[in-house]
Amino acid sequence: MMQVPNGDMSRNDDSIWWRDISNNNLLDDFVDSGFTGCFLSCCKNGKNILFWHSLWLGDQSLRERYPDVFDLSTIKNCAVADVLVWNNGKRHWALEALFNGGAAIALSHGTAAVLPTGAAMVLANGAATSTAFAAARGLPSWARFCDDLNAYTPVELEEDSFMWRINSEKEFSVRSVSNIVNGFKSFVWPSHLINLLKVMWELKIPPKIKVFTWRFFIGKIPSIDELLKRGVSSIINKDCVFCGNHPEVISHLFFNCHVVKEIWNQMYGWVGIKEVLNGVEFLDYGVLQDKVKNVNHRVKINIIWIAIIWCIRIMRNSIIFKGEVFCYDVVCSNIIFLSWRWLSFDYPKFNATYYEWFKLPLSCSNAI
Ligand SMILES: [Zn+2]
Repeated sequence: MMQVPNGDMSRNDDSIWWRDISNNNLLDDFVDSGFTGCFLSCCKNGKNILFWHSLWLGDQSLRERYPDVFDLSTIKNCAVADVLVWNNGKRHWALEALFNGGAAIALSHGTAAVLPTGAAMVLANGAATSTAFAAARGLPSWARFCDDLNAYTPVELEEDSFMWRINSEKEFSVRSVSNIVNGFKSFVWPSHLINLLKVMWELKIPPKIKVFTWRFFIGKIPSIDELLKRGVSSIINKDCVFCGNHPEVISHLFFNCHVVKEIWNQMYGWVGIKEVLNGVEFLDYGVLQDKVKNVNHRVKINIIWIAIIWCIRIMRNSIIFKGEVFCYDVVCSNIIFLSWRWLSFDYPKFNATYYEWFKLPLSCSNAI
């Protein structure tokens, strides 16, 4: 009945992409972005698997198989580990935790340890049974739901693993994601966004950068708020790290902050596309696709655009996590260097030296 995947993603050339997804808490983001059904999860300690949304128990998520139980649950984004209690190596399902509002604070992604065993035991004894839990236990499907869970044996000391399920080999590949992007009909994203993802996806840039840009376009870059929730408690200032004067939101951090605007202005001047685009249009990835007709120029500008948001992101993280100081020249040099390196590595016909690229990015290397 259960399909337990045991594939090893690391064999694949595209494994960086996959490791990013499975190691960087991207999994939960996919709940909202239509991606959860794309992989099978092999549940061991359950810390990286979403109880309701991941495919870890059979070929349907528990949300899909038991919609009535899911509806009654008050904790909808917990990890499997959040519902498990270990006692001398034996597991117990603390299903009460799925229905108890009071436990919500303790239940966040991958924080099984936060759920106090004592509290779970109290719940298990029925002392704090919620109305929702009582209602769920009265559902006709409840017994099957419990049977399914009891038939599964998680492993406390082993990490979860994941398997891509789109292509027949059950191995992850960028190509298979590309196919999904091309056949997105059932996805919830609007068509203009899908078009942007397609354009981005066809660029030859490192997989890691594609993951980042993908998340950027679907609005899933972790904010400081999210990092705080995930236990990165060293961050106390929730304002923009560049100006210190505005709450950190994506639109401000990447476009509207006056510090960041200077970076865009500088890069706009460097690219030298004034006849085709004005400075505001340069900020809009969608507008670029329409207005820059020259394919050679468009590919280069797309890559530069992505290098800009990537380098802004890197600078922001270096300030937060490494205590570095913002340096305008470092960011701009990194953008110019990285975009050149991506083109040099992955576009065989691109033959400009760094110096030529630095001087005239659009005129150098007419072939790419
Ligand atoms: Zn700012």
